[in-house]
Amino acid sequence: MKDSKYKHLVKTETDVFLIGAGIMSTTLATLLIELFPTFKIQISERRNSGGEESSSSLNNAGTGHSGYCELNYTPEDANGNIDITKAIKVHKDFSKSEEFWQYLISAGKIKNDIYTNTKHISFVTGKKNVEYLHRRWETMIKSAEFNNLKYFYTNEDLSKQIPLMMEGRNNTLPSAITVHDGCDIDYGKITKYFIENLHQHHIDINTNHEVIDLYKVGNKWNIIQQNKVTDEISKIETSFVFIGAGGAAITLLEKSGIPEANGYAGFPVSGEWLICENQEVVEKHFSKVYGRPSVGSPPMSTPHLDLRTINEKKCLLFGPYAGMSTKFLKYGNWTDFFKSIRLNNIGVLLDAGIRNLSLTKYLMKELFKSEAERFKVLKEYYPNAKINDWKRSVAGQRVQVIKKVNGKGVIEFGTELVSSKDGSLACLLGASPGAATSVKVMVDVIETCFDLDEKAREKLTKMIPTHFK
Ligand SMILES: Cc1cc2nc3c(=O)[nH]c(=O)nc-3n(C[C@H](O)[C@H](O)[C@H](O)COP(=O)(O)OP(=O)(O)OC[C@H]3O[C@@H](n4cnc5c(N)ncnc54)[C@H](O)[C@@H]3O)c2cc1C
Repeated sequence: MKDSKYKHLVKTETDVFLIGAGIMSTTLATLLIELFPTFKIQISERRNSGGEESSSSLNNAGTGHSGYCELNYTPEDANGNIDITKAIKVHKDFSKSEEFWQYLISAGKIKNDIYTNTKHISFVTGKKNVEYLHRRWETMIKSAEFNNLKYFYTNEDLSKQIPLMMEGRNNTLPSAITVHDGCDIDYGKITKYFIENLHQHHIDINTNHEVIDLYKVGNKWNIIQQNKVTDEISKIETSFVFIGAGGAAITLLEKSGIPEANGYAGFPVSGEWLICENQEVVEKHFSKVYGRPSVGSPPMSTPHLDLRTINEKKCLLFGPYAGMSTKFLKYGNWTDFFKSIRLNNIGVLLDAGIRNLSLTKYLMKELFKSEAERFKVLKEYYPNAKINDWKRSVAGQRVQVIKKVNGKGVIEFGTELVSSKDGSLACLLGASPGAATSVKVMVDVIETCFDLDEKAREKLTKMIPTHFK
């Protein structure tokens, strides 16, 4: 039926079509040109340049998630046992990103200025939290991945590691930290470098082009895109399509009509940072400090006070302050969420909504928090903070995955790869740990959807030495 609607359009052809030019699609394209140099690849992007949504430098927190400081990756059970499985997985996945970036740097394909060494610190206050952090540390140092993690609890040590946060602090409440070397990463810059490298291989990003529909005819996908400047509509035929549209991926996945998409829905969560550029303040903080979310609040609400380095300029970033929004992209539309509701996902959405009323309540509360209430949260981290040093900045939009699990609507806080049975379509949903694990996730796409011959496997091993280990 869709084909008759677009029959009049002249068709062009490609082997691979990538929707969106964020870090995910550009990583996939970069891997593909290394592994399959003869592939014809096209990328469409609705904005006038790539990497402007969640992958943009200040739309995310730039954490090279390695499992050192994120307390939501190390939950404790009722007996106080700490499960570090997720932290180890994130650590291993991030290592693969590092290996691939390093390969590209050594080969002169991207520049060397994407990371800044920045300590990763977990910070807690209060007896129960301090006990938790100590148990977490004891568990983690037994593993090869985290045996260098340091634990500090005296005011003297804390004042050395986190001087800004100890200034003016009432020291009657016990505090503790764990510290590990880590990094701040400019994911926006990586995306731009990937785009420049693709350009060298004659793959240009087709900017200002929004994919508005896709459907399959025989064994090929037809992609329908609209030029946002001229309104002209065009059609491209491709053997493989990757939906790397960030928050908007769920909408396009639904449009594809693949049965694997049934039951998926998206739940948007907006975010805002407080940013400080006063260098007198900035120079007293040298790390990314993650706290523990209060009981019952969602993982994306974990507050952190981060030193960021963007284009050699340093600033502090605090947040994110989560809130309600119905947009699927920062530069999206208020109708996005409503348009994504279908017969096959309305039940899952309602069920997830009922089961997660506390999340809805939390987000509403956050949205209506006054300036003073928001500032109070920052003061828990930096007691001497002065409001005039901080300005508000809208972060990227997260769209959490909702899916059916054992007949129930469940909100997932990670990322989820959905692919068609025949491997001709793959789609990435979700937000976290996100960019840090982009290489592992895109290699998953390749292994799911393409046949790797011996030569390609050898190349993959050269680019990501730990991949097959
Ligand atoms: C507040 C926040 C903090 C985060 N912090 C971190 C962090 O510290 N560390 C980390 O590793 N990750 C972090 N993440 C997650 C990370 O930013 C994302 O996982 C990652 O950027 C997603 O990349 P992407 O390419 O899938 O999406 P995006 O970067 O959003 O790119 C999607 C692209 O698709 C385009 N597009 C959308 N629809 C269409 C269409 N129909 N046609 C054509 N183009 C389209 C968009 O314009 C956009 O350019 C954070 C995310 C948020 C929101």
